[in-house]
Amino acid sequence: MTNPGIAAKIAASADHAKPGTCPRCGKPVLRARAGRIAALDVVADPQPLDLNGEILARLDGRLTWRLITTALGIQRIAWRSPTVPTSDLVIADHTCPPQPIQEALL
Ligand SMILES: [Zn+2]
Repeated sequence: MTNPGIAAKIAASADHAKPGTCPRCGKPVLRARAGRIAALDVVADPQPLDLNGEILARLDGRLTWRLITTALGIQRIAWRSPTVPTSDLVIADHTCPPQPIQEALL
């Protein structure tokens, strides 16, 4: 049987943004499990986007997220509705920069 207190603490901290690096390209990223019911593992670029950057990210097929900083200084990643204005920072899914293709060099 799972201790409900521990389960609640795990659920409450799941969307905390944890800094790390992308294993493929080595760039810094933020990871979190956003959402409470249908949670999604998020790997996002840590640089906040302005409006133009968010539009370009969404046109590129990347999801955008709210980067919330709580009163205790804890950063959380939460779902972002593009039609609802937000006062939180906005970040986008991480995509690795394009890698050179062997045939393209020849
Ligand atoms: Zn990467």
